[in-house]
Amino acid sequence: MACCAFNGHISEIPNISVDNFTNKNVQVYFLSHTHTDHTPGLYDHRFIQTLKTNGAVMYMSEMSAAIVKYEVKCRLGSYDTDEIVKRIRVVGIETIEVLLKADPKRRQKETKLYVTAIPAAHSIGSVMFLFKTDFITVLYTGDFRISVNDVPKFNQLHDNGAPIPIDTLYVDTTFLDDRYTTFPKRSVSVDAALREMERWLKEKGRVAIKTSAKFGYEFVFNEVFKKLGVKVFVEEVRWRELYSHLPHLVYGVTNDQSPVHLCWPKNRRDHTNCTPDATDHKYLNIHLSAQKWAHYDPDDNPINKISENEIDVCFSTHCSKTELMYFVNYFKPKKVVGFPNRFRNEVKDEVRPKKAKFEDGKLEKQVLREIFDI
Ligand SMILES: [Zn+2]
Ligand SMILES: [Zn+2]
Repeated sequence: MACCAFNGHISEIPNISVDNFTNKNVQVYFLSHTHTDHTPGLYDHRFIQTLKTNGAVMYMSEMSAAIVKYEVKCRLGSYDTDEIVKRIRVVGIETIEVLLKADPKRRQKETKLYVTAIPAAHSIGSVMFLFKTDFITVLYTGDFRISVNDVPKFNQLHDNGAPIPIDTLYVDTTFLDDRYTTFPKRSVSVDAALREMERWLKEKGRVAIKTSAKFGYEFVFNEVFKKLGVKVFVEEVRWRELYSHLPHLVYGVTNDQSPVHLCWPKNRRDHTNCTPDATDHKYLNIHLSAQKWAHYDPDDNPINKISENEIDVCFSTHCSKTELMYFVNYFKPKKVVGFPNRFRNEVKDEVRPKKAKFEDGKLEKQVLREIFDI
């Protein structure tokens, strides 16, 4: 993973920084989610000094706020971490108004900025940010995965059934690559993995789940609990400082003994350090990832058996190239800025759909569940 997914700058809106905490001349920071390539500078003691100087606050979702507080404590324990924690502002689904002060150095007048956090369906609590001023509309997707059929369900991105006009789209281009045109729906991948797990557990085996990032797979753990009735064991600190405070968001984990555990980033052959009673059990090792699944065909099995007790599961938390291009063409923004890769593709005229049908109101929980497909 590269150090920084995005440099933080929204050129249309000076004095804010998104997913980058190394920028100093900033009035407001925004965090889309907590993967490390979106938090450069955040857990650095120098950031404490920056905050004391610029007096900025940071907007993020409830889940991200919980993870940031946890990481700050783990990584910066001996420093004056309150300075970071007290700047956190949790943003829900309501649009907020942020007043950006005049900045004569940048010839910037006082500006009212309206910000809407929209679920990005990348991980629990990951959001996109819709920024609006009197003059400009910018959508920053953060990392996201929205399937083609779900785009019209995003009410905040529609006005009277039509896609809102977007001046600039800052978009996650992780899989803007001809090798990754298709990924299976996450529900298909998880169901296939659960079948393997169920079979293994019936034979009194154990399961170790390895993920491609430290956070972001909590939906899978919830699904394991819902379908198989077992919670996923996580290590003590992570349980005590984080998940035990979020039972409404992450209910599929435990710190009690369980036949399933999260194994990250330890070697997956030896489980004596990652689970309390590892001895004498046979483990099924499951690795959830997208990177290794180049050239996936929709008819392919989302599971690859590496050996008798190891499987790879294709599980993408980012848009495939097809999903990404659909999203871009759907909104047809005037300008597109890609991250972490440059956006090179053409925006096509013919792909733009007619008026989308949807109910009035905010994105409901049920819809969000459908979007995650799990
Ligand atoms: Zn991410
Ligand atoms: Zn383990």
